[in-house]
Amino acid sequence: MAERITPRADNYSQWYVDVVLQARLADYSPVKGCMVIRPRGFAIWEKMRSALDAMFKETGHQNAYFPMLIPESFLRREAEHVEGFSPELAVVTHGGGEVLEEPLVIRPTSETIIWSMYKKWIQSYRDLPLLINQWANVVRWEKRTRLFLRTTEFLWQEGHTAHATREEAQEETLRMLMVYKKFAEEYMALPVLAGIKSESEKFAGAVETYAIEGLMQDCRALQAGTSHNLGQNFAKAFDVTFQTREGGLEHVWATSWGVSTRLVGALIMTHSDDKGLVLPPALAPTEIVIVPIFKTETRAQVMEFARRLAAQLRETRSVELDDDEQNSPGYRFAEAELRGVPLRIEVGPRDVAQDQVVLVRRDTGEKLPVPSGEAPDRAAELLQDIQQNLYRRALEFRKAHTHAVDDYEGFKRIIEGEGGFVESPWCGGTACEAKIKDETKATIRVLALGRSAPEGKSCLLCGEKANELAIFAKAY
Ligand SMILES: [Zn+2]
Repeated sequence: MAERITPRADNYSQWYVDVVLQARLADYSPVKGCMVIRPRGFAIWEKMRSALDAMFKETGHQNAYFPMLIPESFLRREAEHVEGFSPELAVVTHGGGEVLEEPLVIRPTSETIIWSMYKKWIQSYRDLPLLINQWANVVRWEKRTRLFLRTTEFLWQEGHTAHATREEAQEETLRMLMVYKKFAEEYMALPVLAGIKSESEKFAGAVETYAIEGLMQDCRALQAGTSHNLGQNFAKAFDVTFQTREGGLEHVWATSWGVSTRLVGALIMTHSDDKGLVLPPALAPTEIVIVPIFKTETRAQVMEFARRLAAQLRETRSVELDDDEQNSPGYRFAEAELRGVPLRIEVGPRDVAQDQVVLVRRDTGEKLPVPSGEAPDRAAELLQDIQQNLYRRALEFRKAHTHAVDDYEGFKRIIEGEGGFVESPWCGGTACEAKIKDETKATIRVLALGRSAPEGKSCLLCGEKANELAIFAKAY
């Protein structure tokens, strides 16, 4: 039997680690803070990558690749950028047995190296917009790490675009934020809040940072993707100008946006349960597992039936035929549940005799006997229903754990108690934001898009006039 998974109610973070390790999604590496993504975990990332990649291409982007080593001096060109990233840089000082003339930084993000190249590639308005995405690994030295959610090296994509006007850059920033929102909701079945970050939470070097935020089952928020309007900061740092249609010379406008393997962690935390992984069908490497149940005398007959069913389902679905003869049906059911396969089909001798199969949903555990001829259609319907049910369940959870609170005592009671998103009036001052974070560990996750100042409300901390309605939470 599989090792026991710690129940969520006993210890949520141990539950998370148990699921990741026992479902064999990832493992610890010999280097502290790094992780090994195992085939089952990587298969989920591959599904995410191909869905996102198609969405990026539909919105006009092309993939390219830039080196992972960046001259240290490049990072210093943008003051906020270097200040933000310095504490987490890994620096190469030796190469080929010699001390390097200039140390090289392992990319924590690629704005600087990409903008050094954009200087060569952009001369005129005809070269714009330039819409490039890169799938890569990055390194940010982390002291406290957690599989998938925060690791020193992680995989991600980073989009870097160049535009002729401020308006175009802003449009692109929001377009990609909405691509991320759509991906989170339609593929991951993860409802997210899309909004803008406060000044203190924005990306180092950005004019504005936008993000999508989800709520995990322990009522902590998780930032699932960011999109930055970089203004002309990097164009100025790398002196990237272009000749305008009118013949003038101007600095280029920029955006960058990214999501990472952290999304795999978000996926696990949003849907999984005490039996293991629960995956939305849209991102499940295996959508259906067929589990034949037989004794020696019924083996041939049941296997033949199961093989025919598998061949039929494989025309439209990713199907696995479980041919494990060593373990009991109970063990094999538990194994399929641990791995998060959305739909299990059980076939036994009695089912063969009655020409039926039993469909079992991973999300609800519900069992449905159906005539085997109807299995492909019913399976397709159920998979769609599972996808929708997971989204609905997560949305209801978020609604139940979102509170509007105007006073600080009430705010603290919720943040220190059940947690979740708390929507509160805020003056907009960095001092209040910092004090709230210091006292409660809650941060402003986002300010709503298209928001206006809340009328007649005062800041929950200082009591001055509120200029913002901020969404707070403790976060990963
Ligand atoms: Zn205040």
